[in-house]
Amino acid sequence: MAISSKISGFIERASWIRKMFEEGARLKAVHGENQVFDFTLGNPSTEPPEAFNQALLALAQHPQPGMHRYMNNAGYPETREAVARHLSRIAPTPVEAAHVIMTCGAGGALNVTLKTILDPGDEVIILAPYFVEYIFYVDNHGGTTRTVNTREGSFQLDIDAIEAAIGPKTRAIIVNSPNNPTGVIYPAEDLQALGIMLERKQRELGRTIFVLSDEPYARLSYDDADVPCIFSHVRNAIIVTSHSKDLALPGERIGYLAANPAMEEVSQFMEGAIFCNRVLGFVNAPALMQRLVAGLQEERVDIADYQAKRDILYEHLTALGFKMVKPEGGFYLFPRSPLEDDVAFARLTQGHRVLVVPGQGFGSPGYFRIAYCVPMETIKASLPAWEKIARDAGL
Ligand code: PLP
Repeated sequence: MAISSKISGFIERASWIRKMFEEGARLKAVHGENQVFDFTLGNPSTEPPEAFNQALLALAQHPQPGMHRYMNNAGYPETREAVARHLSRIAPTPVEAAHVIMTCGAGGALNVTLKTILDPGDEVIILAPYFVEYIFYVDNHGGTTRTVNTREGSFQLDIDAIEAAIGPKTRAIIVNSPNNPTGVIYPAEDLQALGIMLERKQRELGRTIFVLSDEPYARLSYDDADVPCIFSHVRNAIIVTSHSKDLALPGERIGYLAANPAMEEVSQFMEGAIFCNRVLGFVNAPALMQRLVAGLQEERVDIADYQAKRDILYEHLTALGFKMVKPEGGFYLFPRSPLEDDVAFARLTQGHRVLVVPGQGFGSPGYFRIAYCVPMETIKASLPAWEKIARDAGL
């Protein structure tokens, strides 16, 4: 075997999205691109804001000497300052450039943070349903994950269950709001309760427990829903995020991490994280993108477009009898599977050329995920197929 048995097992465990993607490619080859309704991938359907194109053009027309060279591993000071200014508008205390590191996407920010804080055997709590990469990212740095379910029916935080899972090896909890795959936003009261519980547990255990707030969808909330700032509620918090979704730049790998200025030993954490950004081989976030996003911190993609897509699918599927929480942000729906076996249900939808990901792929069997970041024509054209699916699934 050219690969370790561990990686072989991981590939199998993470295979749902890939399996569905491959099935989609097969169906598209047989039936034609427009005849397959592929809701498997979280790849933005919108284009970056016009301001991004303008900034890119201006930079290309006026190249600056040295603009493609190495810089400080944490990123350009002006980009870090721009991010800090943006965060200071929502944080309880001013965030400074010294609290920000530019990274290769949210995935890069998560890996840098985990490498900085984990000792071998440390535990990281993840909340089901979860973004499956968390399991592999934690493993990258010698940690293990402990899964805690969110509350049945609402997918909100179950603080008592999180508390019960905390032990002497717990080092961090990863939260993700607005959430992939459920679309829920954690309200301020719940984050406050989490912060209070963690203060108590840290005193009891004599150990720092971090909250990693994974927020790539923070600026994609609907009806002006508030996405509370984690720094207002949790002291030892680190925001890990990117412009993959809010500026629709996932292929450009640009994101950042930001530590709560009120965090214990914050400058030591930052020193460690800058070192880890370097030794993980990222070295620094892409220079060109850093220059561009510095001026785009208050920009975002057209949220009305995603909201219209959410509304049409949510209303149609609910009318057909599917049960789901109405997403407050992000671009995913996570309905209950009408068949007990979510894999069997995903196969049933395939028969109607509709591709979805079984909930098992997110640690929550009995559900399925629809990524509605697809063209509106795809959504509209899929509606008759959903009617047949509902009928075949006995709704
Ligand atoms: N976290 C969540 C919850 C995500 O859904 C994603 C991407 O889909 C990421 C992190 C990774 O984002 P990035 O592309 O910025 O690495």
